[in-house]
Amino acid sequence: MRRAVFPGSFDPLTLGHTDIIDRGLPLFDEIIIAIGTNSSKKYMFSLEQRKKFIEETYAGISKIKVDTYQGLTIDYCKKIDSDFILRGLRNPADFEFEKAIAQTNRKMSKIETVFLLTSADTSYISSSIVRDIIKNKGDVSLLVPKAVHQ
Ligand code: ADP
Repeated sequence: MRRAVFPGSFDPLTLGHTDIIDRGLPLFDEIIIAIGTNSSKKYMFSLEQRKKFIEETYAGISKIKVDTYQGLTIDYCKKIDSDFILRGLRNPADFEFEKAIAQTNRKMSKIETVFLLTSADTSYISSSIVRDIIKNKGDVSLLVPKAVHQ
């Protein structure tokens, strides 16, 4: 079974994330959307809320599972028997950052990272901009799935 982990903070899930997940679906038998938890990081949405947004967005899609994990992504992948990490690339900064992590992960394990290039119409979307808009009581309905803006 081709199982991929799509790791991230998803604080909150955006249309940039769903673009990568939806386009990853035909490539894998199963995608585990894995919310990484870091106790030293401050999040806008609780882990339960972030998980609920994803579960509601992908309700009824059996190829998608949602989980949470702590620690190294490659250790989590080994635990759930996943050979692939799925990541999205938006810009050169993402590329430089992701390259070092993917190469380190390859050195430490056999896990391959599969990158999908962001779609033109969602490439500017980031969770941090969405959080800023929410903090300032703006409308994020064009940037996030329905489960998040409702
Ligand atoms: P992290 O803190 O691990 O970067 P995020 O929740 O910000 O977690 O992102 C998870 C994944 O989604 C990353 O691979 C990121 O590059 C990708 N991603 C986020 N926004 C977009 C977007 N607009 N287009 C493509 N990929 C995206």
